[in-house]
Amino acid sequence: MSCVSESSHLNKFLRHRYLNLPQGDFCLVTYVWIDNCGVDLYSKTRTMDCEPKILADVPEWDVGLETEESSTEMLLNPVCMFRDPFFLDPNKLILCEVLKHTREPAEWNHRNRCNTLMEKVKDLHPWFGMEQEYTLLGVNGHPYSWPRLGFPKPQGLYNSSVGADRAFGRDIVDCLYKACLYAGIKISGTKAEHMPSQWEYQVGPCEGIEIADHLWMSRFLLHRVCEDFGVVATLDPKPMAGDWNGAGCHINVSTASMREEGGIEHIEKAIEKLSKRHEEHIRVYDPHGGEDNKRRLTGRHVTAGIHEFSAGVAKRRVSIRIPCRVALNKCGYFEDRRPAANCDPYVVTCAIVRTCMIEEKKEK
Ligand code: ADP
Ligand code: MN
Ligand code: MN
Ligand code: MN
Repeated sequence: MSCVSESSHLNKFLRHRYLNLPQGDFCLVTYVWIDNCGVDLYSKTRTMDCEPKILADVPEWDVGLETEESSTEMLLNPVCMFRDPFFLDPNKLILCEVLKHTREPAEWNHRNRCNTLMEKVKDLHPWFGMEQEYTLLGVNGHPYSWPRLGFPKPQGLYNSSVGADRAFGRDIVDCLYKACLYAGIKISGTKAEHMPSQWEYQVGPCEGIEIADHLWMSRFLLHRVCEDFGVVATLDPKPMAGDWNGAGCHINVSTASMREEGGIEHIEKAIEKLSKRHEEHIRVYDPHGGEDNKRRLTGRHVTAGIHEFSAGVAKRRVSIRIPCRVALNKCGYFEDRRPAANCDPYVVTCAIVRTCMIEEKKEK
């Protein structure tokens, strides 16, 4: 079996001809939402008579939810609008939150409470930057461009690498970057990772809820760009067992007072608070209560063990790192290295705000 999908071999010249046809005054609006396991993204597209200029111009929509127990209708409530890098302007991508037919948030919709929490701390101006790691797989489930039998050369030459013998799938990485920029996602960088065919991009810094909205939409673009190329992106935090790095989603955090002169004091206070709630955070840093991260946070492969909390300046085998530039400047931000690649950024930012910022507000 070829490791690249059949559809990726369809005639792209023909496709282009049709995609270039004029579309009149109509606007294609693609709704994107998180499904009921809180991990996968889905989408569907509708025609609107004219271009929505603001989010309020985009109507609510509905979607059927089929589970083993029942079949119900859910509402798709638009929360964030992006430009569509596939159908191009004036077409739109709309990130939606899922509501029950009673208009209460679905069980797996953590955006709703995240939004409420972010409102409470908005005068602290919390900024977040997330580093999304992912692994490219063929449609056969094997890492993209790895030998069909056996393994590529051991780790050591792949991190931030260039060259056809070590950087696999850069077409996807570059196209994703441009697609994110076009869409209006605050993507801030990208690089090759330690494991061959594993890559990272960063989103942020973003203030408040925006980080999670942008990260979720960037994940949609990741899957969509990969689909075009006929490969699959997995956010599994440990796609290959053994001596291969896992995939995380480090989160970088600051408040206005951390960014100001002498802010290191506030950073240290936040780390002290985090140290007291390690287990609680581990439970919500992957979608399976810490089970996924157990395979990744082993104390090897640039991680700290899952069972104990640790922090350090310029160290990477720790739960929390203070980047060396931050230590030198005595202000800036800290990095929580624990979240898994498949974490829900609404949940992760909520946990950090609750631990580090709500009390700070009380103290004020
Ligand atoms: P690393 O050295 O851990 O690989 P990266 O350069 O990959 O770091 O990512 C750093 C992230 O930190 C980026 O997403 C960036 O947007 C974010 N960041 C930078 N400054 C701040 C800040 N003051 N507060 C929060 N996040 C920040
Ligand atoms: Mn990084
Ligand atoms: Mn990384
Ligand atoms: Mn990092």
